[in-house]
Amino acid sequence: MKIENNFDLTNYNSYKIKAACNRAFFPANEADFIEIFKNSGLDNKVIIGGGYNIIFSKDHYEEDFIMLGENYSSITLEPDNVVVCEAGVSTIVLTEFALTNSLSGVEIFYDIPSSLGGAVVMNAGASGEEIKDILVKVRYLDLTDMKVKEINKEDIGYEYRNSLFQRETNKVVLKVWLQLHPKNADEIKDKMETVKEARWAKQPKEHPNAGSVFKRPPGHYVGPMIDELKLKGFRIGGAEVSKKHGGFIVNVDNATGMDIINVIKHVQAMVKERFGVDLEIEQRII
Ligand SMILES: Cc1cc2nc3c(=O)[nH]c(=O)nc-3n(C[C@H](O)[C@H](O)[C@H](O)COP(=O)(O)OP(=O)(O)OC[C@H]3O[C@@H](n4cnc5c(N)ncnc54)[C@H](O)[C@@H]3O)c2cc1C
Repeated sequence: MKIENNFDLTNYNSYKIKAACNRAFFPANEADFIEIFKNSGLDNKVIIGGGYNIIFSKDHYEEDFIMLGENYSSITLEPDNVVVCEAGVSTIVLTEFALTNSLSGVEIFYDIPSSLGGAVVMNAGASGEEIKDILVKVRYLDLTDMKVKEINKEDIGYEYRNSLFQRETNKVVLKVWLQLHPKNADEIKDKMETVKEARWAKQPKEHPNAGSVFKRPPGHYVGPMIDELKLKGFRIGGAEVSKKHGGFIVNVDNATGMDIINVIKHVQAMVKERFGVDLEIEQRII
């Protein structure tokens, strides 16, 4: 298994926060995962899928990082239009694979940057579609007994941007089965492009970010509350509430993780004071 020392994490988090760790592991098969975790479970370890939903709060980590995107990303088509992805497969690879095979169901993920493991943990989605809708089952390593197990979608306790895998962090997602269905490739391509265009019109693609910072609170929309508070453009250090979409924080000038976290705290305090709403962070602080 590839292992790197003094590993630079800057290009492995979509905020492009400068950070490094003592050691990074790049597992390539299930035996590698068991080897990594066999003596100490998740203690002093951090799992990174695509790094599109994380905030590094430190610039140096003593913890070992497990990087899934590079060497653990095979994708296969099984009978009855079931696509099987190792956890490190990216959504861009998945959506293009589905298009090549004239299979529909994942078009919405064309512009949601993610690994498949990360998508299953976060229950990623948009416009009323979520990964859970097409998920069949998940293979995972249970760190409590070091056994590889499989769990059906119905038993993962999915909620909006939440899953068993967030509530119980002693499970590492290894493999994901998705049920797709045949469709004309031109129609699939059309939906992928339409979704992408609509998102690019709304989202601040010009600066590094990690998507929506906050979960949508019941009965409210985050963007309009932030607009009303005139917080667009509010800045601490190199982190700024996006001028284009108030629900995003962008790295405009070498932001540290603490810059981003301090902007988040300010927005939460202002929203609480004006609207009485507690904004819950969707992104994972590491
Ligand atoms: C421009 C942009 C737009 C976005 N738009 C959307 C959107 O529309 N909808 C949406 O839902 N999200 C969106 N996001 C957020 C992001 O795409 C999703 O949260 C995505 O699923 C994160 O996946 P990841 O692989 O990058 O996870 P990471 O950021 O690498 O990890 C997220 C969490 O999951 C854990 N984890 C990752 N892989 C595993 C694994 N195999 N086993 C166990 N734990 C694991 C990590 O430890 C971490 O706690 C957006 C992000 C960006 C940058």
